[in-house]
Amino acid sequence: MNFLARQKKLREQLASAGLDALLVSHLPNIRYLCGFTGSAGFLLVADAGSVFFTDVRYDTQARDEVKGAKVIIARKAVLSALGEWVDARRKKSKGWTIGIEAEHLTVAERKRLADLLASGVRLRNAPALVERARMVKEDAELGLIRAAVQLGATLFDRALEVLRPGVKESEVAAEMEYAARRAGAEEMSFPTIVASGARSALPHGRATEQAIAPGGFVVCDFGVILAGYCSDQTRTVWVGAASKEARDTYERVREAQQAAIAAVRPGISVAEVDAAARKVLCKAGLGRYFTHSTGHGVGLEIHEAPRVAAGHKEELKPGMVITIEPGVYFPGKWGVRIEDMVAVRDDGCEVLTPTSKDFLAV
Ligand code: ZN
Ligand code: ZN
Repeated sequence: MNFLARQKKLREQLASAGLDALLVSHLPNIRYLCGFTGSAGFLLVADAGSVFFTDVRYDTQARDEVKGAKVIIARKAVLSALGEWVDARRKKSKGWTIGIEAEHLTVAERKRLADLLASGVRLRNAPALVERARMVKEDAELGLIRAAVQLGATLFDRALEVLRPGVKESEVAAEMEYAARRAGAEEMSFPTIVASGARSALPHGRATEQAIAPGGFVVCDFGVILAGYCSDQTRTVWVGAASKEARDTYERVREAQQAAIAAVRPGISVAEVDAAARKVLCKAGLGRYFTHSTGHGVGLEIHEAPRVAAGHKEELKPGMVITIEPGVYFPGKWGVRIEDMVAVRDDGCEVLTPTSKDFLAV
């Protein structure tokens, strides 16, 4: 990863954002910019260079991992060290405007920082510069994402080996997560969703102690983190003998998902991709049961920009990685969702998720 190039690009955007420096407090942004994978730290990116502040627990790790930034190990509170560092350069920093990541700095931290800083140093909410840069993946990132998606997809094979009537949702999830760790996953992207029966109508039904019963769908939504990058995939299977309604509903969701994938190409807006999926379901009279948006970006975080949703104007660019995951949910009855990850390419898109989407009954 070329951390120096990423920081350089960010530096070039500071002035037009009205900032002299950006205080990066969101850990995935810190990782993206300088390579630090620990759980505590702040990265100050300024014209003159970057400085990374962390505590003694990360002394060795920070010196090992951090690229393109001076490392300062705080002997006390990290924010205090940061405040003192800026203050010690008061002459130079007088009149400075430091951008903060308002979504990722607590109210208390902001106040403490403001109290620590010399008068003349202003804090201002910064635009999401790093999140915007992260939307478009470099080739090396795409390679890591592909590997995460491939590993993640094997978990569904494991699910199919154990998913039977009478087996608890949590047992299926446990087998999937164990297989993930055995295969080298660092952790799950999020708590595995195995939602059966009426719970399959919950878009985010985490696995419970409920035993899987015949005559319903089971929604399996799962992902792994590998080399820092997330995968995200959903497959839905029927348990027992399927009704015509179940098959038909599944096929409409699959068509909707396919329509949205077919719409993905550079220059199209995320709202248009969402509309492509929604159109199919509305035409089938299922529009009002598709209650969430069509997808989201994936990378160092499981949910990142852009949102693939109505009313959002973001245009897709080559290198973006998004999910396409329409679903239909009949409350109290059952639900279906199908989710793939796709990468936007010059000529359309590449479906990263390899798993079949044929209707499956177990
Ligand atoms: Zn998912
Ligand atoms: Zn998702």
